[in-house]
Amino acid sequence: MKPKKVKPYHTDEETEVYHIYKECTVGNNIEKENRQKGTGGYRPCKRCKEIQKGK
Ligand SMILES: [Zn+2]
Repeated sequence: MKPKKVKPYHTDEETEVYHIYKECTVGNNIEKENRQKGTGGYRPCKRCKEIQKGK
């Protein structure tokens, strides 16, 4: 199954990364109301990068 890419989002309350995949379990732990649009100038989340590589 192909992972679904979403618009980048991040949170100011967590580690300084942003997420780009719907399947990201780390990103999914962020409450919707705490999500901010965009990358926030952070680096991509480790889990999202693994998803991108097809892991
Ligand atoms: Zn992620």
